[in-house]
Amino acid sequence: MARRISIFGSTGSIGQNTVDLIERDPAAYDVVALSGGGNIALLAEQARKLQADIAITAYEDRLEDLRAALAGSGVEVAAGAQALCDAADRPAEWVMSAIVGAAGLYPGFAALRHGGSLALANKESLVTAGPLLLAEARAHDARILPVDSEHSAVFQALVGEDMEAVERIVITASGGPFRDWPLDAIAKATLAEAVAHPNWDMGQRISIDSASMFNKALELIETREFFGIDPERIEAVVHPGSIVHALVGFKDGALMAHLGAPDMRHAIGYALHWPERRDLPVARLDLAAIGNLSFERPDELRFPALRLAREVMATGGRAGAVFNAAKEAALDAFIAEQIGFLDMAAVVEATLEGMDRDTSLSIPPQSLDCVAEVDHLARNMAAREAAARASNR
Ligand code: NAD
Ligand code: MG
Repeated sequence: MARRISIFGSTGSIGQNTVDLIERDPAAYDVVALSGGGNIALLAEQARKLQADIAITAYEDRLEDLRAALAGSGVEVAAGAQALCDAADRPAEWVMSAIVGAAGLYPGFAALRHGGSLALANKESLVTAGPLLLAEARAHDARILPVDSEHSAVFQALVGEDMEAVERIVITASGGPFRDWPLDAIAKATLAEAVAHPNWDMGQRISIDSASMFNKALELIETREFFGIDPERIEAVVHPGSIVHALVGFKDGALMAHLGAPDMRHAIGYALHWPERRDLPVARLDLAAIGNLSFERPDELRFPALRLAREVMATGGRAGAVFNAAKEAALDAFIAEQIGFLDMAAVVEATLEGMDRDTSLSIPPQSLDCVAEVDHLARNMAAREAAARASNR
């Protein structure tokens, strides 16, 4: 029997890697929904190739383009945020959540209601609404399988282990393109410099987040939410080679590491075939050729996002939603070349402080609507902070 699957964000970096695995064994899958944004040609190509039931573009004004691109294919078309949630409501046994940003939250929630597996690349879902997402999964007997490479690595290192025996979780960070840059150079970093990641080939937004270590900051919070471990027991270590993805330290002092080539198809494939392991088209490591693995302590002065993540984890409640929304708004301003690289952290910090003055951040959001409202307020405040910094430049 073919497995019914959907891929939200199929045209992105994670999405294309997922499609790559699926199309190697087309008979095994019955593709329900694929979604993308403005790259209509790619979305249509994927939908034809995988014979999806429906293709959805996030942009309502692109519906007719999508309809034209899929004419005669038998693939249904739809557009907009509501259409995306409606498509996620169609039963599927395995759903990839690979939309970037808080926009990925609602489709992921909808997908959990069928009690299948949600392969979660969209880390923003856990950062903004972790407890709600996990509760939704429990309520519907659904499971969340982490796709972020570090979290997949931790998940794999924990197979057969008892969380009680876990002393710490260590996630690695490549350090990004500015790992050894001095603070004043980082302050002047350009958009082109920030996008060029040394090891991983990723979407533009996550590449910049890797350069600022906002990505690692989100991942620390994601670790806290997904594995339910105290923030003091979570560490990030800089490992420029990106060979070790994460380590789990146990009570007896043992440290179990997960190693692999920097290829997201490993984490995606693990989530796809879980609980089995199957052959995956990823490079095998030649340890002797690699020679050495090096590690460094992260520098919270040059990468203030890491310090902010600690504060967010200590505060809990709505701090994650504010942090993520402010980060997204600050990133928009950096991509628009309105603010400098380090202004992003300053904008996020000011927004956390400003939002906390209005209502204590430690109060947990009770519903998705509440998360959406916090997100909206934080985004507006961060945009104002960014505009103020832009006019001072
Ligand atoms: P990407 O930018 O390459 O792709 C994003 C996808 O989301 C595209 O299909 C795009 O059309 C869609 N999209 C963008 N905005 C949307 C909106 N408002 N509504 C609906 N759809 C929208 O991103 P990516 O690098 O593939 O990352 C996707 C997610 O996976 C992110 O949450 C990211 O943090 C996470 N992730 C990525 C990697 C990686 O290697 N790329 C690794 C770990 C985690
Ligand atoms: Mg990661």
